[in-house]
Amino acid sequence: MDWIRLTKSGKDLTGLKGRLIEVTEEELKKHNKKDDCWICIRGFVYNVSPYMEYHPGGEDELMRAAGSDGTDLFDQVHRWVNYESMLKECLVGRMAMKPAFPKDYHEEKKVLNGMLPQSQVTDTLAKEGPSSPSYDWFQTDSLVTIVIYTKQKDINLDSVIVDHRDDSFRAETVIKDYSYLVHVALSHEIQEDFSGLFYRKCQLVSKEDVTHDTKLFCLMLPPSTHLEVPVGQHVYLRLPITGTEIVKPYTPVCDSLFSEFKEPVLPNNIYIYFLIKIYPAGFFTPELDQLQIGDYVSVSNPEGNFIISQLQELEDLFLLAAGTGFTPMVKVLNYALTNIPSLRKVKLMFFNKTEDDIIWRSQLEKLAFKDKRFEVEFVLSAPTSEWSGKQGYISPALLSEFLKRRSDTSKVLICLCGPTPFTEQGMKMLHDLNFSKDEIHSFTA
Ligand code: FAD
Ligand code: NAD
Repeated sequence: MDWIRLTKSGKDLTGLKGRLIEVTEEELKKHNKKDDCWICIRGFVYNVSPYMEYHPGGEDELMRAAGSDGTDLFDQVHRWVNYESMLKECLVGRMAMKPAFPKDYHEEKKVLNGMLPQSQVTDTLAKEGPSSPSYDWFQTDSLVTIVIYTKQKDINLDSVIVDHRDDSFRAETVIKDYSYLVHVALSHEIQEDFSGLFYRKCQLVSKEDVTHDTKLFCLMLPPSTHLEVPVGQHVYLRLPITGTEIVKPYTPVCDSLFSEFKEPVLPNNIYIYFLIKIYPAGFFTPELDQLQIGDYVSVSNPEGNFIISQLQELEDLFLLAAGTGFTPMVKVLNYALTNIPSLRKVKLMFFNKTEDDIIWRSQLEKLAFKDKRFEVEFVLSAPTSEWSGKQGYISPALLSEFLKRRSDTSKVLICLCGPTPFTEQGMKMLHDLNFSKDEIHSFTA
């Protein structure tokens, strides 16, 4: 932050009063002292002396590239750092004579057509677009890995469209209003089909009753898979039913409401849990219920448009869930209680037909007892005569009583999930109650 403040202060950090110059190799070599240190990265020369004391790796690390081309060193240590933006105010100019790419850089990149190296894009696209991704690739005998550096947060799987046909590979990355294409001509045909979602076979390791019709399924990922479904996203489960592969979406949950929330992509996260309601007359769930421990079901990559940053700096979180629409709320609730320091209140209004249908009722009540920030209210649409709690479907009266804003300025998010009529009616009621679009997230397919 101190560095950013300095760069925004208007101080002349290059000593050139904003002028950009062409730098020869000889000139670059002269600037090799701490108080006069120029470094070249990808053909651009920066005066890094003002940055010395802010460099997290220390001054000596930075001095290793003093007066020379630091591209390789930079790539070895932290190629993901957005140096162009960090060192913008330190830009001295371009190298005059020799391009600063590694010798074989152009040779290599020629193979991957369709996109210019980052330095060539900077002048044109970057000025117009949000940030032009660059890419890299690595190859072994059996695998080509293409890495696209988007420099964007919140890139979802649905931001990337990958197609493969015969000997051509095409990856399109959608960032805001722009789409960037890497189009590669392969020297041989490859077998994998990239055109749909990627599935891996997972083994059913346990199945526990949660209510009379809902079960907690635990699937084990294959040993080579590394997958953690982000908060608020779902996957597709795929099973062969009467000779056809059938897929349906399901939202992974934690194994219980009290499980410690784990950061995504932990290497030992090999289990994935689902709360699934079995519909006796349904197409997919009776087949799923037929699976024996040790049987396999295919699990896709995650999808969904919930963005975790919606939870940042949140003060009040309201969750409106109906039936299995509770499933996306599990990780949202867990994440918010564990990771959002600003959070003051989380309230869940949970709509079900009867008391017997309430998923994890005692866990929810225990959590409300244990964590004073959390409150839960059950609303039943077909209760028995003994039920003394709230009744009916979602309604403006229920919502206006439940959704009490702390103040006009408090940051609020309302999450909504359930049968389609529930979600549609709920959305309309929330708009009528003057909640803005940014304050509402509905989980849909
Ligand atoms: P279906 O064959 O779709 O039938 C469902 C019910 O509708 C049955 O009672 C059936 O008898 C009735 N029905 C079907 N057709 C008709 C008809 N023409 N007229 C009248 N009634 C009919 N579910 C979960 O349990 N857990 C989750 O975590 C979960 N996550 C989801 C995430 C997303 C993004 C979405 C969109 C849905 C999610 N679902 C979840 C729902 C899930 O995808 C399936 O829709 C559900 O499991 C039903 O599948 P099915 O094939 O067994 O039932
Ligand atoms: P359900 O039939 O048991 O109903 C639960 C409650 O939903 C009812 O008590 C009622 O309050 C409300 N409801 C039902 N029908 C309504 C209507 N016509 N108008 C207003 N309110 C109504 O629910 P279920 O069988 O558990 O179904 C859950 C639904 O949630 C499924 O449709 C499933 O696809 C959906 N779901 C969606 C996601 C997602 O991320 N999009 C995730 C999980 C579940």
